[in-house]
This record gives sequence, structure tokens and C-alpha cells, in this order.
Amino acid sequence: MFGGTFDPPHIGHLVAALYSFEAISLDRLLFVISNIPWQKAGQRQVSPPDARVAMVEAAIAGHAGFEVSRVELERGGESYMAETLVELREQNPGSDLFLILGADAAAGIPTWRKAENLAELATLVVVDRPGAPRFELPGFRVERVTMPALAISSTELRERRRTGRPIDWLVPAAVQSALDSWRLYRDRP
Ligand code: ATP
Repeated sequence: MFGGTFDPPHIGHLVAALYSFEAISLDRLLFVISNIPWQKAGQRQVSPPDARVAMVEAAIAGHAGFEVSRVELERGGESYMAETLVELREQNPGSDLFLILGADAAAGIPTWRKAENLAELATLVVVDRPGAPRFELPGFRVERVTMPALAISSTELRERRRTGRPIDWLVPAAVQSALDSWRLYRDRP
């Protein structure tokens, strides 16, 4: 699983997913769209779930093995990764679970809430992300994945849109169409 706010999804997410999919030889890769990202709650308004689902669906359309998961949207409330992994384990008995994250997110794991059993639930797949701090996660199974460095973020893309600058090539054209039709990021950060 690859969890995120995806507000909007960008090529950093997609290249991270592609390289992880190949490096671990995954059968399926679920883009798990967070309902309320507790770490970002209160800092800014997150776009509606349906808009974020539409953008991720547009981004991955036609890529075999890539799927959108609504498990956190259906659960509602704040989204906690460990709860999601428990649910995915119940839905996929016998499967090995891998949790894909950027190195910045991995470095933050010791601060996560409700993360007591995380190490037993999944192997972490940590992709490089420019600017991420070094980290150690004793007790976790960790696979490192190298990808071409893409120092972009959804924050930068929202800011570009808000200030009328182009986002061409930073998101797939289909994502740009989806965010246009949802009229996202025009007047807020
Ligand atoms: P924001 O700028 O709004 O905080 P973001 O760009 O960090 O968003 P998220 O949806 O929060 O995107 O990230 C989901 C996951 O994707 C996280 O594990 C994050 O580390 C990873 N990720 C995001 N951008 C990149 C990137 N450019 N390179 C590698 N990993 C990335």
C-alpha cells in the first residue's frame, strides 16, 4: 500500500510507486487515499475525497497492478496507517503487506499515533526523497528503494496553481484535466 493525501498526485508519487512496484516485484499496488490526514489536520483545508480519488484514478489509469483504495475514506474520521494495515490484512488473508513511503514520511514514524504494532503488520518500503532526514527504525523490516530524485511536492503544485503558474509535466495531463474540472487550488494554498 502507498498511502497519501494526494492533493494533488504528482510525478514524485508515481515514480515512487513505479520503482517500488518493480523493486519488490509487487502483485498489486494500492494507492490508499487518506480521509483526514491527522498530521495535516488543522493546517490547511484538504480537497474533497472524491476529487482526490478522481485525480489518482486519472493518474494511474491503464497501469496494470495499480489500484485506488477507498478503505480509509470508507472508515471515515482521521486516518491511521496501522488501522488501515489491519483492515487490509483482513481483506487479503495470506498476503505479504508492504507499506511504501517517502524517506521524509519514514523518518516521522516514531511520532505516529496508534502505531504500536506497525512493525509486525508490514515491511516498510522506503523511497528516497530529496531533503529527507536520515532515520533509523529499529525493529522494522525496511527495504530501501532508489528512484530518480524529484524534489517536488503537492504543496508546491498547489502554490503554482494558486499563483497562476503552469504545472505541466509535474502531473500527468489527465490529472491536470481532473483538477481543472474540480476547480481546485485556485484561491487557497
Ligand atoms: P504535501 O506537500 O501536501 O505535504 P506530498 O507531496 O508530501 O504532500 P503526500 O500525499 O503527503 O504528498 O505523500 C504521500 C507519500 O508520497 C509520502 O510517503 C511521501 O513521502 C511520498 N512522496 C511524496 N512526494 C514524493 C517525492 N517527490 N519523492 C518521493 N516520495 C514522495
